[in-house]
Amino acid sequence: MKLYVKTFGCQMNVHDSRRIEEIFSAAGYSMTTDPRQADVALINSCTVREKAWHKAISETGRLRKLKRGRRDVIVGVVGCVAQQEGERIFDLLPGVDIVVAPDHYGKLVELVEEVRSREGALALTGFDRGLPQDFLIAGPPPSRREATAFVTIMKGCQERCAYCIVPTVRGPERHRPIEDVESEVRSLVSAGVVEVTLLGQKVNAYRRGEAGFADLLRCLDSVEGLERLRFTSPHPRHMTSDVTSSFGNLRSLCESIHLPVQSGSNRILSRMGRRYNVEDYLLVVARLREACPSIGISTDLIVGYPGETKEDFEETLALIDRVGFCGAFSFKYSPRPGTKAARLDDDVPADEKARRLDAVHDRIESLERQWRKSMVGARLEILVASAGRLPGQVSGRARNGQIVNFVPTDGKTIEDLVGHLVEVEVIAAHSHSLEGKSVIR
Ligand code: SAH
Ligand code: SF4
Repeated sequence: MKLYVKTFGCQMNVHDSRRIEEIFSAAGYSMTTDPRQADVALINSCTVREKAWHKAISETGRLRKLKRGRRDVIVGVVGCVAQQEGERIFDLLPGVDIVVAPDHYGKLVELVEEVRSREGALALTGFDRGLPQDFLIAGPPPSRREATAFVTIMKGCQERCAYCIVPTVRGPERHRPIEDVESEVRSLVSAGVVEVTLLGQKVNAYRRGEAGFADLLRCLDSVEGLERLRFTSPHPRHMTSDVTSSFGNLRSLCESIHLPVQSGSNRILSRMGRRYNVEDYLLVVARLREACPSIGISTDLIVGYPGETKEDFEETLALIDRVGFCGAFSFKYSPRPGTKAARLDDDVPADEKARRLDAVHDRIESLERQWRKSMVGARLEILVASAGRLPGQVSGRARNGQIVNFVPTDGKTIEDLVGHLVEVEVIAAHSHSLEGKSVIR
């Protein structure tokens, strides 16, 4: 039996798809990247923006065509659209066999077998209680090629930003015991992982008993063999000073943070229900830079939020310059069902949203270029991950998140270096990456 999974959306979905593959593989399935070979074909969907929802629905529609040749293929939707739509998917897309929301992946193989053995489709939605066993634990990486791993520390979100559907589709916040996170990290490290990214919708709001997020970071920093620690996504409101001062202090914590700001206008931040203002955000940035001057700060931005005037938008552009972000994911606002913002008038015209998005892209691109240029001549530690941009090169990420391509010395090949840390001197900055040469010691 063969499983095909196509993943859309955030790193949480990427992580979940991995766990789904492991669960099926433990049941004897093999994986395929060709849907025509599949016995079970799943779309792991995202609904955070309207466009993502459309993509999930149209990709599922395409997968259904597999059934024309082979009626026994099981086609399913998992992920956030599964939770959002539930059984409605069967009306939207007749022919879909199974719809399973994220908190039920542990039972996915049984559910597929059940659908196979009876007539009719099956939908399972809703949330678990967040008991330790409700978190899907990462299996060992399949090869040394994978020296990085994600570890979930919390599920759900209760922040309820006015525009966001995540709390509806991912449920209430449930935080994992610190011992469980530590033991998962230890077992990954003993299987060859050197870099771990902690995952949570509001990752820095982590709290379990007496332990807060900074305690968790400190605990993981003491795991021998864990060279790099990252996390995503933190919320500015929860960036307490014990978290900001962890940067530059904890040996494994990388000099990079993705800290979504969403807007540079206090009026819009308040309408978004973000519960911080521009001054609060700048204070967090100042604390981060004080603790770790070389830190790279990237962000998420929404343009064209209901009621966003040209002046509000100018304030966003000004904030981008003021912070000097080294990267950003920027999005045109789209209303999501059931959110507070969906009741507001979506009054920024589509062409104006597009213009604002282009303006943000231009600013960010120019800052990215400056940031990369400033690294020429620096020595960076690279975790080698894959073949490089040009023949003979290998590629990997620096601790600050930058991709660096370089030609290995001493006749070393990609096979020798993958999963290893290599010191590299940056010799040139290109439009999306850096070029380096190995430092011979
Ligand atoms: N939990 C994370 C991000 C979750 S969603 C956080 O709070 O930062 C990822 C990003 O999608 C958000 O940061 C936001 O920029 C964007 N987004 C969420 N809802 C949106 C909407 N309705 N329209 C446009 N962008 C949206
Ligand atoms: Fe959505 Fe806000 Fe929660 Fe992030 S913190 S997932 S933007 S509600």
